[in-house]
Amino acid sequence: MAAQILIPRLCIIGVGLIGGSLARALREAGQVGEVIGCGRNEDNLRAAIRLGVVDRYYTDPADAVAGANVVVVAVPLGAMETVLRAIAPHLAPGCVVTDVGSAKGCVVADVERVYGYIPPSFVPGHPIAGTEKSGVDASFATLFQHRRVILTPLAETTAVAHHLIRRMWELTGAEVVDMGVRHHDAVLAATSHLPHALAYTLVDTLARLDDRAEIFRYAAGGFRDFTRIASSDPRMWHDICIANREQLLEMIALFSADLARLADAIRTDDRAAILTVFERAKTARDNLYLD
Ligand code: NAP
Repeated sequence: MAAQILIPRLCIIGVGLIGGSLARALREAGQVGEVIGCGRNEDNLRAAIRLGVVDRYYTDPADAVAGANVVVVAVPLGAMETVLRAIAPHLAPGCVVTDVGSAKGCVVADVERVYGYIPPSFVPGHPIAGTEKSGVDASFATLFQHRRVILTPLAETTAVAHHLIRRMWELTGAEVVDMGVRHHDAVLAATSHLPHALAYTLVDTLARLDDRAEIFRYAAGGFRDFTRIASSDPRMWHDICIANREQLLEMIALFSADLARLADAIRTDDRAAILTVFERAKTARDNLYLD
């Protein structure tokens, strides 16, 4: 008897970089039957069909989720509640809903606002993978290979739903880990949301200088490495900063205090203090496992 595929009908709402890459990876793994796409922009959705990412698409989320075994909500954080509200009455019995949002507390709060409780078949998730590009054209099947995916299952989440979403991500080549919602948001504020806020601010500061053309002309590799992520979608990162406001503000305060201390050391010619910070940072950076 042939083995059953994991997800006979998958619905991806928001067929962009993350949603598109997930659909591609699951297709390559041969573990998905039909893939239904959903979005507002028909050019992007037609491209998704042309690229073989989805089989058909709808612009109305209520139509898109009909009969789906798994629904992946892969829209920006600011659009999550609207999408969750639109699909709630139309989900098939037993359908498992997950999301890919970069902050988790806000998505859980959206779900609670929509349902008034946490549905047992809801599994919050976040792939720690991405590029600065957006849209289905930027998606690729190997995006999640050797990357981590964090799931933040809740007390209400059933083991069956949790296991299905874990298995789905493992099939993309990702390592799946579980975390608490608050812990996830604190860790990501430090490792992702603060760096994006810094990169955007640094580029914006320099871009407003009178001699910016001259400055950018001489930007070398270090500047490019540091600021690559400032090319990411501004609207998406706006949503993330607002969604994870509390944890991000804590990290910005910590970083601002350290930067002010460094400025003080430079001002007062405290060479030992400057060297201590740089040496400590180099040791930490050299010993990081960054793939
Ligand atoms: P993306 O490439 O821009 O894709 C998002 C998709 O959502 C778009 O194709 C868009 O399709 C749809 N969408 C946008 N605004 C919408 C709205 N207001 N209502 C309904 N649909 C909307 O973005 P992405 O990078 O895949 O990010 C999607 C999610 O993944 C976000 O929640 C983000 O936090 C999370 N994430 C991103 C990364 C990353 O590095 N990029 C990494 C991990 C997680 P239409 O225009 O057709 O509606």
